[in-house]
Amino acid sequence: MKLIDLHAHSTFSDGSLDPAMLIDLAERRGLAALALTDHDTVAGVPHFLAHAANKSIRVIGGIEISAWYDRESLHILGYGLDHTDRRLNDTLSELQRARHQRNLDILDKLNELGIDLSYDDLETQENSQIGRPHLARALIRRGMVRDSHEAFNRLLRQGAPAYVEGRWIHAIDAIRLITAAGGAPVLAHPALMDASLNALATLLPELRRVGLIGLEVHYPTHSRKQRQCLLQLAAEHRMIATGGTDFHDNSDNGIPLGGSCRSIRVPYSCYQELVDYLENGRPAR
Ligand code: AMP
Ligand code: MN
Ligand code: MN
Ligand code: MN
Repeated sequence: MKLIDLHAHSTFSDGSLDPAMLIDLAERRGLAALALTDHDTVAGVPHFLAHAANKSIRVIGGIEISAWYDRESLHILGYGLDHTDRRLNDTLSELQRARHQRNLDILDKLNELGIDLSYDDLETQENSQIGRPHLARALIRRGMVRDSHEAFNRLLRQGAPAYVEGRWIHAIDAIRLITAAGGAPVLAHPALMDASLNALATLLPELRRVGLIGLEVHYPTHSRKQRQCLLQLAAEHRMIATGGTDFHDNSDNGIPLGGSCRSIRVPYSCYQELVDYLENGRPAR
């Protein structure tokens, strides 16, 4: 079975490998296709595409946009979009400013809690999107928490004392933005927002109507039952199924790029359906 991974982060957001290193790792692991989906930025996409030229591995440049729907935080994946699109980049600049301000607000909250941490303590890279994982890593380096699980649980997760809501865009606007830039919008890890998947009954038809074309079915934390339910929903709403490991780091969740027989495997058909959609512009199925 050909292995693929359609959800991976690089140093342009909260991943630990740069786009070229991701491709090299994917090749070493024998993956047939890989997509780059950094949080709220396409800055890594040109490097990613350039490094894949003349290689047999198939690549898709993408993004994972942070968004809201009602009071729920949603992530919208966008595949194959024109990373030079003017409106896309203008909106991403706004999101990036909001992200920066939120990081400063979280640092203020941490300081109020007696935790002495400043922006200079974060390991940042020019042109990369900083988020809570960078704050978690700084807290670990300072010995204030043991691991990122504790950092999120005690301080950074929604509802925890240092949590600050992001001023993200509406999910409908994220979908329209990706479509207008020629990309394919897909709802990321649907079971993370609602394990019962009941919310999708009303959410999906509305998001489908504004241009959502796929659901991320194959995802490390999705149970077999959730995957089956998502596959059924995708078929019902004539959407494609995608999947990926949400790879950030080799040591992160223990799941290697492309998955493994003990975690998830993403069928090659997910890549094929996505490419068919991008090339033919026709609705799935
Ligand atoms: P942000 O985009 O700044 O809101 O941070 C969200 C990112 O934090 C996600 O994409 C994950 O990489 C990471 N994350 C979220 N929740 C957790 C958690 N409970 N433990 C470790 N990492 C997490
Ligand atoms: Mn992340
Ligand atoms: Mn996500
Ligand atoms: Mn992700």
